[in-house]
Amino acid sequence: MPDPVRRLFFALWPPADVARQLHEAALSLQRACGGRAMRLESLHLTLAFLGGVAASCVVAAEDAAVAVAAERCVLELDRFACWKHNRIAWAGCRELPPALGGLAADLARNLAAAGFALDSRPFAVHATLVRNADCAARLPRLDSPIRWPVDEFVLVESHAGPEGSRYEIVRRWPMH
Ligand code: ATP
Ligand code: MG
Repeated sequence: MPDPVRRLFFALWPPADVARQLHEAALSLQRACGGRAMRLESLHLTLAFLGGVAASCVVAAEDAAVAVAAERCVLELDRFACWKHNRIAWAGCRELPPALGGLAADLARNLAAAGFALDSRPFAVHATLVRNADCAARLPRLDSPIRWPVDEFVLVESHAGPEGSRYEIVRRWPMH
């Protein structure tokens, strides 16, 4: 039997109230720059993207996550921006909580040590809100920051579908 490949990434998944605020933000961005707002249930923040992983190697990815020292923190999403090259409009933060930078770096290091090939670009904290956005449009201001208490991170499987990717949480790790 061939080893099936699963498309995986580590992420922060917003609690329901934060997801709702992010979704409202996505709709206001969409009014300004068109495109397609992310569905409420799809909103997330990617920490490390693994891409296609042989099913037999998923345990190694999970082990890499067990070994990180993850501290709880609060993420304040306080700005909108848009990337022209991929037409993604997103929410981010002016100041990255050190605990989150540390978590992303630890994950990347452990995954690389376990033999996973990760993107070499530096971690860019962003929650994608709108796809196919017109980045030339004037973006609305985020009146008050979206306060996201982060107390867990997750491993997610991405399933390709006719209406874009669908995400499934595979496993959760609490942060202390
Ligand atoms: P779709 O590809 O269907 O448009 P998507 O990009 O959300 O949707 P995936 O490509 O499976 O779905 O990506 C899952 C998550 O990982 C997304 O948050 C995406 O931005 C991020 N991601 C994808 N490719 C990379 C990459 N090369 N480096 C870092 N993050 C990535
Ligand atoms: Mg993609």
